[in-house]
Amino acid sequence: MTPCTRCSSKSFLVLPKFKIPEMDTTAEPDRVLPVVSSRQGVFFATDTAHGHFELWICEGCGIVQAFAKDIDAIRDLPDVKRKTIA
Ligand SMILES: [Zn+2]
Repeated sequence: MTPCTRCSSKSFLVLPKFKIPEMDTTAEPDRVLPVVSSRQGVFFATDTAHGHFELWICEGCGIVQAFAKDIDAIRDLPDVKRKTIA
């Protein structure tokens, strides 16, 4: 990891699995935000969670970077496009 691009700090707080902030206390409390959560079928959409986000929070300025993790399963999804920059 490189120093923060905003403040040059080298200290980060890392959340390995970003969870959805839950305002409803009756709902499931530990839902991890997936990278991809549904796929459109011929007749209906199927909800399937793939991957998760790892957040890096700069201790110097608070800027947040999100990294998609465990995303191998989404490479072959029909609505995911691969783009390569020159
Ligand atoms: Zn920073």
